[in-house]
Amino acid sequence: MFYGCLRHGCRSKPSWMSSRRPNKARLSLLKPYEFWLNYGTVVEFYETLKLRVKKLVRQEIQDLSAYPVPNSDGMLKLDAMENPYTWPAIAKETWSEMLKTLPINRYPDPQGEHVKDEMRKVMGISDDYDILLGNGSDEIIQLLAMALAKPGATILAPEPGFVMYKMIATFCGLNYVGVPLTEEFELNETAMLAAIDEHNPELIFLAQPNNPTGNLWAQDSIQKIIEAAQGVVVMDEAYTAFTDADHLALLDKYEHVLIMRTLSKVGLAGLRLGMLVGRSEWLNELDKIRLPYNINILTQASVLFALEHYDMLLVQTEQLRVDRLVLMQELASINGLQVFPSEANFVLVRAPQGMARNWFEELKNKKILIKCLDGGHSLLKDCLRITVGTSEQNELLVSALNEISTSGSVH
Ligand code: PMP
Repeated sequence: MFYGCLRHGCRSKPSWMSSRRPNKARLSLLKPYEFWLNYGTVVEFYETLKLRVKKLVRQEIQDLSAYPVPNSDGMLKLDAMENPYTWPAIAKETWSEMLKTLPINRYPDPQGEHVKDEMRKVMGISDDYDILLGNGSDEIIQLLAMALAKPGATILAPEPGFVMYKMIATFCGLNYVGVPLTEEFELNETAMLAAIDEHNPELIFLAQPNNPTGNLWAQDSIQKIIEAAQGVVVMDEAYTAFTDADHLALLDKYEHVLIMRTLSKVGLAGLRLGMLVGRSEWLNELDKIRLPYNINILTQASVLFALEHYDMLLVQTEQLRVDRLVLMQELASINGLQVFPSEANFVLVRAPQGMARNWFEELKNKKILIKCLDGGHSLLKDCLRITVGTSEQNELLVSALNEISTSGSVH
């Protein structure tokens, strides 16, 4: 019986595979008769493995592609809405000194109470509402989906929107209904209301500002949708730091609205901390399915440290808001580029017809990574999404795009 893994190496390798050399090299070390002796069993091993995976894993999971994260080694990263700034050396030093003292042999605070208190303060969240913490807001989307995944349950969201709504619906066995925005990326109120009427979704996500379009929708359309919904409506405020609009007041008016936020976009993406704000009746139920200790000790301590220095993050956010305007103006002056309004830390643009992938690749050749959205949704034809970087980074991007757009380099 063959137990080892020729491609990736696995725990129970036979002794002849136990060296640290690459597997191909290891195989070439075998004498020819040893190679042929093992070849048949290796083939059989992989055939059985493939068959078992195919038989056991749910078909809808097999049909999915994993969330795509491109390799960004050595690239100027303007693809993932991260804050481009780090902390001053002194802050980093104090932070790392503090990390040393943490009892990492112990489980973290299971509820993250201190973190919640501080989040409440910096975000001005009233004591009337509870907070639930997630390992990024992705985890919160998953908790919501799991809690509401009765047979036949549906998640509904405007499209194009954040891709995880659909992916998580699939993981958790819910139906997913995407309702197209208008050509201008506004909410299609009639279509939304008709879809709510037809599908009666358990869960609706409204991201404000919306990813990947970057805009805010008409408040009265949002309210009509909330009023028509029989299920839960989650206002996803991932980009709240970059806009004056906020939807906390909806919590007072509607008992079925929840607000979701994240620290990822304000400079703490690596810590993975998302939050859900709402009435305890909802949050207590979700808390039952939250995995114990989901927010690790390093994250809790680092977030507390960062929130103590929240002003520092706000200064960075303010700078990004200023730089967004400059970037939008400069992008608008590029030949053939259409720039859409943005209230987030990214800008959606439309390249001349048929050029988006080409421009994306050309930028990649220049070591600049943005997001190509062409092909993702019919409304995003020829579209690219650019995260706002530092002013120097934005200048690099703009001059690269200027070069690309004038070189006429269509391959
Ligand atoms: N909501 C929206 C609209 C997003 O764009 C993102 C991240 N791109 C998230 C939620 C998830 O954020 P995180 O898991 O990093 O908190």
